[in-house]
Amino acid sequence: TLQAIRAASSGPGRLADGRAVPLLANIGSPESAREAVARGAEGVGLFRTEVLFLGAEKAPSVDEQAATYRDVFAQFPGQKVVVRVLDAGADKPLAFLTDQGEENPALGRRGLRALAAHEEVLRDQLTALATAAAASQAHVQVMAPMVSTAGEARYFRDLAHELGIAVAGVMVEVPSCAIMADHVAANADFMSIGTNDLTQYVFAADRLLGTVSAFQDPWHPAVLRLIEQVGRAGAEHDVPVGICGEAAADPRLALVLVGLGATSLSMSSTSIADVRAELALRTVEEAKELAALALAADSAGTARAAVADRIASWP
Ligand code: PEP
Ligand code: MG
Repeated sequence: TLQAIRAASSGPGRLADGRAVPLLANIGSPESAREAVARGAEGVGLFRTEVLFLGAEKAPSVDEQAATYRDVFAQFPGQKVVVRVLDAGADKPLAFLTDQGEENPALGRRGLRALAAHEEVLRDQLTALATAAAASQAHVQVMAPMVSTAGEARYFRDLAHELGIAVAGVMVEVPSCAIMADHVAANADFMSIGTNDLTQYVFAADRLLGTVSAFQDPWHPAVLRLIEQVGRAGAEHDVPVGICGEAAADPRLALVLVGLGATSLSMSSTSIADVRAELALRTVEEAKELAALALAADSAGTARAAVADRIASWP
């Protein structure tokens, strides 16, 4: 009916059986935050803070950072904003954090590894975030990129709690982190799967290199099996499991991800309407059925086809 179509084209993300699946935005600037609001995001699942400082020669001051964060938080009163601390290195080098001359920067000291080596930068950022959060109505949470061990998750959570941020999670984008998800979950307030890097590292195929781009496909069961492990660990430990890589923007894959245990989805805000509409058509039991089909496939292509066939068979 027209009413159902209208309900599905705005408002919060929901499955047909009423289960809520919050639809959040990936942002990297105050402007993209405004677009997220305009497109009906229920908050922010990934705020890529390194984008703010890509040209900077030296680390931004606490005050300078706090002012920028305040601008963004002000747009999400009463909503969740998940801030990723600086993910420097590989495709996003920052002069004040990134080692020069690494031969394989995607495998080098990037993300939390770089921050732990320059802990004053991490402390300053968490302090700026705590200050800006205290001055806003947003529910601010922080997460660390490129976490590869449970010990790193614990290190980050302890530091964030010490500096006044009560909810601190990790991105799961390194296979070791997914494989150890039960122990990671015990040391994190939430997990958020970054399917872009997770896919890159599962296939050992540079996500920016055109000659190997065919491997960069999150429909592949090799990726989905890891996501399923993370979903299970999250459920067992009562730790939310978000998705913040591009996979969440593909409406049918979004259903599969919910079937694998994702409790929220974050994406470019341009995709929110399409994902909302697809989720509204299916129940959690149907999402699980699609997930099982995709997991059992032998390739990304057969996973896609199996899911498409099953959906086509439903009224
Ligand atoms: C990811 O790796 O999936 C992710 C969301 O982070 P980024 O694309 O910024 O590396
Ligand atoms: Mg990443």
